[in-house]
Amino acid sequence: MARLFVSDLHLDASLPAAGTQFLEFLETHAVHAEALYILGDLFEAWVGDDDTDAERHRICEGLARLTARGVACFVMHGNRDFLLGEGFCRRTGAQLLPDPAVAELDGERVLLTHGDVLCTDDHSYQELRTMVRDRLWQRRFLALPFSVRELLASQARAGSRRHTSATYAHIMDVNAGAVATAHRLARAARMIHGHTHRPGVHQGLLDGTPVTRIVLGAWYEQGSYLWYENGAYELRALPRIGNEASAAAS
Ligand code: MN
Repeated sequence: MARLFVSDLHLDASLPAAGTQFLEFLETHAVHAEALYILGDLFEAWVGDDDTDAERHRICEGLARLTARGVACFVMHGNRDFLLGEGFCRRTGAQLLPDPAVAELDGERVLLTHGDVLCTDDHSYQELRTMVRDRLWQRRFLALPFSVRELLASQARAGSRRHTSATYAHIMDVNAGAVATAHRLARAARMIHGHTHRPGVHQGLLDGTPVTRIVLGAWYEQGSYLWYENGAYELRALPRIGNEASAAAS
């Protein structure tokens, strides 16, 4: 049976078409798989498991239906939804994965990571990441009223947009040295990650061994997933029908 990998869906009430497509993907694709791996940024924002947003709720319900049908669902934190916690797991039946994690796929060690830790050239982002991944910082943040957390998160996203538009693209891509180190530490010749929104398959040589880095795509304009079965990998795009219709109409 297949295993499916997605990341960077950035689901949010402002783009319900992506959420609807993801729910369809769960019903038509993931339900036939052995496992679904969500490698970070399932949600555009998640500021605590006391979340009551209707759009995120329907996504959680979809995941709960999937896991109830016996499909394992693994979720890794992204830089937008790193506060997904035990409450989210209870709501969905999903299991949180540490970042990085190593999956054994038919005997092959495969490194799974969201990918933001590999972007070491972006120093200001790495400083911010260190701060918000600190347990004490998170405990203080989660103690704030929900509306305050939402406001702070939207301010952080606005800051992130300013940073992204002012930073060279190569600085926000993965650093080759960080990629090599990650392969070596995990003793894994294959890595799967998201975050950069640059889907593709990169092959190279490391210490005389062939290595492969598969980058998952974002879901802003269309769906995207990695299919794996019996040693074969395939990055697949899912066209979004509604997008074509609206593009044709405008
Ligand atoms: Mn990300």
